[in-house]
Amino acid sequence: MNYFTEIKSAVSIEEAASFYGINYNNNKMCCCLFHKDRHPSMKLNKDYYYCFSCGAHGDVINIVQQLYNLSPIDAAKKICLDFNLNPKSDSYSYSSIVKEKKKEIEHKKELERAFAKNRRDALFILHEYHGLLLKWKRELVPDDMNLDNANPLFLEALNNFDRIDAMIDELTYGTMKEQIDFIKTFDKEVSKIEKRITEFKSAGY
Ligand SMILES: [Zn+2]
Repeated sequence: MNYFTEIKSAVSIEEAASFYGINYNNNKMCCCLFHKDRHPSMKLNKDYYYCFSCGAHGDVINIVQQLYNLSPIDAAKKICLDFNLNPKSDSYSYSSIVKEKKKEIEHKKELERAFAKNRRDALFILHEYHGLLLKWKRELVPDDMNLDNANPLFLEALNNFDRIDAMIDELTYGTMKEQIDFIKTFDKEVSKIEKRITEFKSAGY
């Protein structure tokens, strides 16, 4: 058993939650530690937690990491101190620290890859819609300039063009944080736009 496994099997999620002052109800639900949660969404199981709202999940070490903003190693050390544990395994050694660090880096890379893909996909969709709107805006201008009789696609272009333009700018030139926020905030809207494009194409224009 390695250092981390030993700690995880010694301290249950519930014990840690009680010790560190996390309020949970009879169903072992508490407010999530990983997102702004007003009603308890996080379930505390024996050896893992899971948030039904944001999907956060992990073990007792992750809880302490989050509560005290610690690395996995430091969170594990804190639990040992707080619960008077003295893991027998000698694997709290250089190699386990290196392994843990590697895992952390790998995880971070994975998140970055996922973000890059989401960003690419979103930009592709926005650009495609932008192109359609531009075309409609240019080609479907009503002859008499009367909007009451205008082609609905022309009106759609008038309504949406500036906003889509601004969205592309933000996702292209925003800071990393702005881009990440963008993906989170507009995820649903981008899916809607994607559906709209498919719908338009399948209508056979
Ligand atoms: Zn959550």
